Amino acid sequence: MAEIVLHDVQKYFGSVHVIRDMNLTIADREFVVLLGPSGCGKTTTLRAIAGLEDISSGEIRIDGKPVQDLEASNRDIAFVFQLYALYPHLTVFENIAFPLRAAGESRADVDRQVGEVARALDITHFLKKRPSALSGGDMQRVAIGRALVRRPKAILMDEPIGALDAKLREDMRTELKRLHIENKATSVYVTHDQVEAMSLADRIVVMSEGILQQVGTPLDVYRNPANLFVAQFIGSPVMNIAPAAVATEGGRTTVRLGGAPQGFALPPELEKRLGAAAGRDTELSLGVRPEGVIVAHEASDGFVPVEARLIEPLGSYDIVDLKVGEGTLRARTRSGFVERPGDIVFASLDTSQTHFFDTRSGRSLG
Ligand code: ATP
Repeated sequence: MAEIVLHDVQKYFGSVHVIRDMNLTIADREFVVLLGPSGCGKTTTLRAIAGLEDISSGEIRIDGKPVQDLEASNRDIAFVFQLYALYPHLTVFENIAFPLRAAGESRADVDRQVGEVARALDITHFLKKRPSALSGGDMQRVAIGRALVRRPKAILMDEPIGALDAKLREDMRTELKRLHIENKATSVYVTHDQVEAMSLADRIVVMSEGILQQVGTPLDVYRNPANLFVAQFIGSPVMNIAPAAVATEGGRTTVRLGGAPQGFALPPELEKRLGAAAGRDTELSLGVRPEGVIVAHEASDGFVPVEARLIEPLGSYDIVDLKVGEGTLRARTRSGFVERPGDIVFASLDTSQTHFFDTRSGRSLG
């Protein structure tokens, strides 16, 4: 297996700069997910690692060896595309066997290796069928089988389950995770689906406009977003972001959101920390996920009265829109906790889940 290093990689298509100063080390046996909105450069990065796309400058190393001048076929990397890309005239067995035959392996070795991969993917029962007789999920299993069969140094996957329906995607997600646990092939996986990224990745690489925004474990990027882009891209429903004014009056520190008359209580040390990170004229934004907004029926210290605007019942919990100043704060509550829109409830912030950002630069201030 392999370590993959991208060092100062740049890629231009004409005058369009689609990968900017990319520096990334993917450890041997790691499962890394490139996550970002459409057009942010994920596929181009993956294709550059595979050798399907030249880079404009920089270096790509696999196991310490620069490969940017090597043909794709000499990089010992397998690629799984979103669309199955199987040979329609060959059986499933022959599709999986194809790379082994191309490498001149003996018949016995081909049989053994196809058998092993087919068992791991639970597809032995349709090895004699042709792709056209298979469902989308099964076709993609075959494509993954073909990618894995030569035990490549790394496997690169470009939205491999993006074309499947929601239920099948969930099943395949679980299966991909199991396969990785068993095979431990260094894997780089592209998706714009953050749930897929969270569930599969050892580490997530969040990208926007060709720029790497943050690299971290799923929990790290969820809990400690480096900037406003990551904060709003990761998590569903999205993190609440609101213009914030922090003040200390009469020994109490509060934060007012969206020009609201009453502020939410903050621990005094948070203001100190913010004071150190932010300049006097820094415009602040507060970020808090819906599960970090605490809602109560009764007034108590540190809670602010707010009106419920909208209640979205999601089965095991509700998302409640609360009117705060000119804006809305979305809270996650127990199902049925707030009964009707228009009800007045009391809200406070779980400050361990509250983030501040520099509104202009987007940078997290902690
Ligand atoms: P998606 O999820 O839509 O595939 P992505 O994040 O994978 O998006 P890329 O496909 O890498 O993004 O594209 C990055 C940028 O490069 C986009 O602006 C795209 O239009 C542009 N681009 C990609 N391939 C080419 C090409 N062959 N020629 C010119 N521009 C290209």
